[in-house]
Amino acid sequence: MNVYHRPLRATGHCRHYSFDRRAGEPTCALGMDLGAPGASRSCWPDPEKLRNPPRQCPLRSEYTAEERAAWEDWISARLVRLGNAVAALPAPLPIGCVGHLDCPNCGGTLRWGRWHGGASVRCETADCAEARFNVARGADWPLTGKGADR
Ligand SMILES: [Zn+2]
Repeated sequence: MNVYHRPLRATGHCRHYSFDRRAGEPTCALGMDLGAPGASRSCWPDPEKLRNPPRQCPLRSEYTAEERAAWEDWISARLVRLGNAVAALPAPLPIGCVGHLDCPNCGGTLRWGRWHGGASVRCETADCAEARFNVARGADWPLTGKGADR
């Protein structure tokens, strides 16, 4: 079974920056105060290109080109795995049902669910493939996959 190793999330932001979703606010790993309105702008990608460039943070540190390339590769590979997972599903999925099959990416268990207005796929292998989809009411989903006519 395949195992996936998520690399450092190397974005265009300063490497000390993160967004605390629970608190709903940006944070700095080095403790810079980002609480004031607009204070996190110097953490953003290319802050000097903003319309009103913020004062440069003296602690700003960029991810390396190698780290950023590894993260981009990870994002691309994850999208491919998600596409493989969706293509392996019965098509269209019956509404109001859940099911599972062998994951085409890793050989683990790929679980799916389908309800009015949406669907989900999630492989039990960490970082393999996982997504939720909004699906228009009355529409079939997925349109292509195992069992589809086209
Ligand atoms: Zn998998």
